[in-house]
Amino acid sequence: MLVEVALPRPISRTFTYSVDADVAEGTRVLVPFGPRRLIGWVVARTDRPPDAAVRPVRRILDDGVPPQLLRLCRWIADYYVAPLGLVLRSALPNALADTNRPQAPVRTRRVLVLTDDLPSLRRRDEVFARARRQRELFELLESMGGRAEVVHLTDRLHFSYSVLRGLESKGIARFDDEEQVRDPFAGSSVAKGPLPPLTAAQDAAVRALAGAVRAPPRSGSRSAPFLLHGVTGSGKTRVYIELLKQVVRRDGRGAIVLVPEIALTPQTVSRFQASFGDDVAVLHSALSDGERYDAWRALRDGRKRIVVGARSAIFAPIPSLGAIVVDEEHESSYKQSEAPRYHAREVAVMRARLEDAVCVLGSATPSLESWHNTAVGKYRILELPERIEGRPLPEVRIVDLRVKADAAGSPDGAAAQSPRSSGHVLSPLLARAVQDRLKRGEQTILLLNRRGYATFVQCRSCGDVWQCEHCNVSLTFHRGRRRLVCHYCFHEEPAPTHCERCGSGDLSFRGLGTEQVERSVAETFPGARIARMDVDTTSGKWAHHEILGRVERGEVDILLGTQMIAKGLDFPRVTLVGVVNADVGLNLPDFRASERTFQLLTQVAGRAGRGDLGGEVIIQTALPGHYAVHHAVTHDYAAFAERELQERQSPAYPPLARLANVVLSGLEEEAVQEAAASVAAATLDEVARRRAPVELVGPAPCAIDRIRKRWRWHFLLRSGSARALGMVCHWIQETRTPGGRGELRLIIDRDPVALL
Ligand code: ADP
Ligand code: ZN
Ligand code: ZN
Repeated sequence: MLVEVALPRPISRTFTYSVDADVAEGTRVLVPFGPRRLIGWVVARTDRPPDAAVRPVRRILDDGVPPQLLRLCRWIADYYVAPLGLVLRSALPNALADTNRPQAPVRTRRVLVLTDDLPSLRRRDEVFARARRQRELFELLESMGGRAEVVHLTDRLHFSYSVLRGLESKGIARFDDEEQVRDPFAGSSVAKGPLPPLTAAQDAAVRALAGAVRAPPRSGSRSAPFLLHGVTGSGKTRVYIELLKQVVRRDGRGAIVLVPEIALTPQTVSRFQASFGDDVAVLHSALSDGERYDAWRALRDGRKRIVVGARSAIFAPIPSLGAIVVDEEHESSYKQSEAPRYHAREVAVMRARLEDAVCVLGSATPSLESWHNTAVGKYRILELPERIEGRPLPEVRIVDLRVKADAAGSPDGAAAQSPRSSGHVLSPLLARAVQDRLKRGEQTILLLNRRGYATFVQCRSCGDVWQCEHCNVSLTFHRGRRRLVCHYCFHEEPAPTHCERCGSGDLSFRGLGTEQVERSVAETFPGARIARMDVDTTSGKWAHHEILGRVERGEVDILLGTQMIAKGLDFPRVTLVGVVNADVGLNLPDFRASERTFQLLTQVAGRAGRGDLGGEVIIQTALPGHYAVHHAVTHDYAAFAERELQERQSPAYPPLARLANVVLSGLEEEAVQEAAASVAAATLDEVARRRAPVELVGPAPCAIDRIRKRWRWHFLLRSGSARALGMVCHWIQETRTPGGRGELRLIIDRDPVALL
């Protein structure tokens, strides 16, 4: 028997193998591939004799893809123009693609630990003579606190196993099995009490959902998506829980709950655990491959019926799926940034349709796509227009940064503060408001969506700005590490003391970042307990948990950070939210810049006044008249959406048109430019030949035209027809993908969330 096998490789075709048993579609198999072995999935049986000699499948493995997931993955491969094997690979737990342990994934965490028998500095040259990699590994381990996970060293940092063993044989390091850190999401940590009665608006939403749950199967009235538009603090989570009670408790079916990032939404997670206890599997990023695989099997076998997780939880193998919830559906983290470039919200809508499940997308600031879908009757709207217990939305005040900037003679507002003048980070109004909270023992949240200390370093005498040597972006100064860091490729270099071009020592550190805010706030409010939450302070496994736990227990007076602190947090003692500079993302050359800013401001404002103490929001901006800022001040989503939809009419942008972004990149600028021009020209011919209603814009250099040494050009395909656009994308993928091992790359990003 011949079968077509999809392999996890960036190739859009499948491969033919022979097998002597009768295997079903979805079966997981180990196959030879050139000199290697790969794990793949049978996606079709075939009679067609292949062109080359057929090799036999090596081994038939258990735990294949359930049929409903195979169907979903096929849709993703088609819609997002991605190889089916790659889609399956990213839909299934890592453990199922591990060729070294095809049957039984590991559970223990093997670590390499430095012993006490370390060579003194002087002896190192001798000990590591002709063993450069061993020395590097040794020094790395030292810098990592003396231990590291073996797979991290081998798979991420590319040390060969023999280098690890080399250190062991010298007695400098030993292997060990480390105990897992206790998983804070394991078991329910929340007291189960009776839930308070539903508000009238919650009740109406729950009734509408119940109607869909009971609708006749396959009638379409089950799976047509709902958009739950509820202002911040309106009790959306409670609505999800009531829906799940019917689907899971009453009907015995399963449910998927997607959240943008588990680490940032521990409260939402624990509410589900409080109501459903052991029925809930939480898929968070700190799970080991083995734990993730355990959860996968528990869901597949019906031992757990609810999964709560980020993007990839949409692929949970739930046998009888009754409901899918996508919380904070506007979040761009639902879009995967590498192939397959799927958007979990759109996959959720499709999965609900394929499996006839109820689908709810929830947000206080819905994506314009979903909002538009309610306007054209594709989605059903549910509104929670008020906060719980009639609490008012917080009053929002604006501080106009231009006033002060003029006085200081600086063109670029609060962003132009040198490290010394850090007292100006908070305006007097905001500083007084923080002081009040400190006196009253209430909590403050301060947002600045930019990490590091200063976003660029500039020579005052010649104007030179420090740039990454691999990317066309300025380097960010990180004061704690005394280094300049590239936020695109992670390149680092020591902070400069003088200009390399003109020799001047007069450097200015410009563009305010969270690190600088922290320092300034600490100086202004000595004694205040401050926690900073951004990528730099949350690299540890449970770092988010630890910080948010301190805030919850009242051990923090001021929580400051990037967009991380704007999501879903529900702390009743937070009575003040300050936005240090609202304009950070507003000027990006991206059609979603205004939408992002409006969402961020509205969401962070929503963290204030969630308890009985009331709340206040102060937004510092140099663009107080901008509609994204203005409508956030008045908490008016509908007005914002109406204005933004006008902006996207001409030229048309989503949701008023469909887009695909075609990006070419390579090491040589000219070759990339030529390739972009030639692919674009060929595409235009093809579009004309097929008379496809597709418009081509470009080609042009990307807004960030060089990342990780690669030059980047792109063109946009725009269409009113998803089908026509898909057809052209497939044609490009199949005929224009650079072949061989050349360094030129072409990617197609359908429904892009950003065009940078
Ligand atoms: P949202 O997600 O809409 O911002 P949450 O679901 O976090 O809002 O709910 C806000 C707060 O209101 C939470 O503390 C929640 O426990 C509480 N809450 C939700 N529903 C009710 C209700 N019907 N009665 C009283 N409190 C409620
Ligand atoms: Zn200079
Ligand atoms: Zn870089």
